[in-house]
Parts: sequence; C-alpha cells; structure tokens
Amino acid sequence: KPTVAIVGRPNVGKSTIFNRIVGERISIVEDIPGVTRDRIYSSGEWLNQHFNLIDTGGIEISDAPFMTQIREQAEIAIDEADVIIFMTNGREGLTTADEQVAKILYRSHKPVVVAVNKVDNPDMRENLYDFYALGFGEPVPISGSHGLGLGDLLDLVIANFPKREEQEYDEDIIKFSLIGRPNVGKSSLVNALLGEDRVIVSDIAGTTRDAIDTPYTYDGKDYVIIDTAGMRKKGKVYETTEKYSVLRALRAIERSDVVLVVINGEEGIIEQDKKIAGYAHEAGRAIVIVVNKWDAVDKDDKTMKEFEQKIRDHFLFLDYAPIVFLSAKTKRRIHTLIPKIELASENHSMRVVTTVLNDVVMDAVAMNPTPTDKGQRLKIYYATQVAIKPPTFVIFVNDPELLHFSYKRFLENRIRDAFGFEGTPIKIIARPRK
Ligand code: GDP
Repeated sequence: KPTVAIVGRPNVGKSTIFNRIVGERISIVEDIPGVTRDRIYSSGEWLNQHFNLIDTGGIEISDAPFMTQIREQAEIAIDEADVIIFMTNGREGLTTADEQVAKILYRSHKPVVVAVNKVDNPDMRENLYDFYALGFGEPVPISGSHGLGLGDLLDLVIANFPKREEQEYDEDIIKFSLIGRPNVGKSSLVNALLGEDRVIVSDIAGTTRDAIDTPYTYDGKDYVIIDTAGMRKKGKVYETTEKYSVLRALRAIERSDVVLVVINGEEGIIEQDKKIAGYAHEAGRAIVIVVNKWDAVDKDDKTMKEFEQKIRDHFLFLDYAPIVFLSAKTKRRIHTLIPKIELASENHSMRVVTTVLNDVVMDAVAMNPTPTDKGQRLKIYYATQVAIKPPTFVIFVNDPELLHFSYKRFLENRIRDAFGFEGTPIKIIARPRK
C-alpha cells in the first residue's frame, strides 16, 4: 500500500483533513479498553485505491524550536511517504515557513501536492495564485471544515502513486516482524535466529534505511523477517520520539503476517508494551507474545505460570496469543518460537465450513439468549466467514445496534472454542438482513 503524509506548519488544518480523509474508518475500529490510539496513522481509500495516511503534525519533537519541529516533520514525511500533501492556509497566504518547508521538500524528489486550506468559498481564492510559486504544480483549494475540494486533492494524490509493485513473496512464505520497545532484545533475537551477527546499519549521516527484509530458513521452510531493529538512524532528533518509533512499528506490522510482540522478562510489562501490542491486534495480524531475557530471571517452578498470568491480566485483548519464553542471549527455548509462528499463521488464514459455523452460533444462542435493548431482542439469522487474515465473520441480524460488545465477545469465544484460532484475532461484523 502506498503511504501519503501530510506536512505543513501548525494550525493549517492538517488534523482536520486527516480525519476527513480517514473518515469513518477510525470510528469503526473496535474500542479496546485501556488502549489509547494515536491518531497520526491510519488508512484511507479513494476510488478503490487504499493507502496509509500519516499526520506528521501529530509527531511532536519535544522541546524543539518551531522551525526545527516543522523541518523534522517534513523529513519524516520524506522518509515515509510515496506522496506528500503539503498543507498551507489560504486565508493567511504564503508564509516564510511555507517556503522553508518547500525547500526541504524540493530535495526529496517525492511527488508533492499543495493543498490550500480554509478556502471555504470561491470568493476566497484570491490568495491561491501565490501558491503556484512554490513550484509543485497546481495548488488545490480545499476547505477542511466544509469538506470541499477533497476529491480533487485525492485525485491528484493517487495519480502520483508509484506504479511499481512492492516486493512480494510467495503466498506460502510467512512474513513476520518483531515489535516492542527499545532494548527488549528484538535485534538480539533476530541475530539468534539467523545464527550470525548481521552487519550493523551504517551511521553515516543521512543514510536512509527502510525495513530490511531478511530471508530465513527453518526446518527447510522459508520465512521473511521484517526487521525494524536495523533501521535506527543515528543523529536524527525524531528517532528518539516515541510516536515515531510507534510509526515504524506500525509500518512493519502492516507488512507482516505474524507479529512477535517482544517483552523484556527481566523488567516485566509496562504501559508502552500494551500500546504496541494493541496496534498489532487492531491491525488484525496473527500474534505471538515473546518473553525474552528469560535467562536473567530468577526462577522456580511457578515463575513461568505467574508471568503468564501477569501477561493475561495486562493484555486482556490478546487472550488468543500464544506466549513463548526464551533467551536470545543463551538461545534457550528459541526452537519453540517457529512452531508457534506456524500455528498462528495457519489459524490466521483458516476457513471454516459455513454449516458448522452456523451450528456453533445457533448452539451459542440456545445456551445464552440474545440480549434485548429498548424492548427489542437481537435476532441472529445467519453467519458466514467473509475473509481470512484475520478470519472475519459477518452475522446477519435484525438490527446491528443490538449486538453489544459483551454478546459479540461471547460469540467470539464460542467460535474460538469450536475452531481454535489460537494466535489470531477474529472479527465479527453485524449486518442487517435485508
Ligand atoms: P532491541 O532494542 O529490542 O533491538 O534490543 P537489543 O537486541 O539491542 O538488546 C538490548 C540489550 O539487551 C542488549 O544489551 C542485549 O545484549 C540484551 N539482551 C538481549 N537479549 C537478551 C537475553 O535474552 N538475555 C539477556 N540477559 N540479555 C539480552
């Protein structure tokens, strides 16, 4: 999927446009208690073309002066995006800050589309002509608050999408990535798997590295490791900002079949782990939880069970994810990892038989009657699996509003009990029967 980034100085309306483009997609995402969502990264669609969208304005480089902030955000856009939306403010006209941003963008050779925001009606177009001087072609007048001009803007954006396809692998090659906060041992684990020390990314200023795809063979089967650990670019301010590392993780998750959520067994679980795991869950990827540095933990025969319980308590929404305890350093138990990846991946693309699915759902309803709301009872007519990766089920009902979270969760658990699905989230969508 191509990536689009929105840049521009503060208050030109980047977030408004971001939300407009993302539209209802953000609100239909299931709410997970305890997981905060950063609204800097989401996906959008225009004319059947799907893309990722980044609001660089949401990535604050702490304590940096105004111009540094904008410059760093522009750099992020250049690194991450295939097409850049450069937002300006039509009421204020062209400013020095706009020109500064433009200078950075010139060097990138990435396609840039200039959006002139706050042009709420045609009378306000007089400033528009100044923006031609930026040299990025015809500026597009838009109004974030009125939702005008967005179609024209997106037409131009998708016209600039790269033609080449991203490197693709055989269907049966499992792609997996390792996510987790710094120092949990992601890099060490990749090294341990590969059985050699990889070449470390060069520190030359300005070296740009994307995620490195490393082929990996285990037991005669091919895998691809999507390695974010090697992507650190030393000396860039934004590298240390949390939201930026989240963004990197999200990009890796996006391309993976299976995501390894790596936790430091020595330190335990902190809030940031939860957040990162939440993203993998929301993205619908298969998940294996890896507790690393298990060598450094003082253990008795209960320690593992206790740690497992702690994980279950903290990651309520990941109750389906298998947990692997290992040490990247000593390589103990490292052989238990790949079978779990296999299992999670297999379940991620499992298809169930429709008649069996309906038996399971009807049995569930018989066991625990559907809820009523405002005097109306939920009626379930029929269920069918509509997709894999993750397995997605549509349930036809009298009124989707009546399928509350708790009942949906109950159905999910019944389906899991019947079919397994260890290692993969499943999605249930209610649709009204016509
Ligand atoms: P990353 O930031 O997640 O990629 O973490 P690194 O792989 O760079 O590891 C961070 C630190 O943890 C390094 O000092 C490693 O040597 C150490 N480390 C990694 N794995 C283990 C492990 O299994 N046991 C112990 N004791 N230390 C580890």
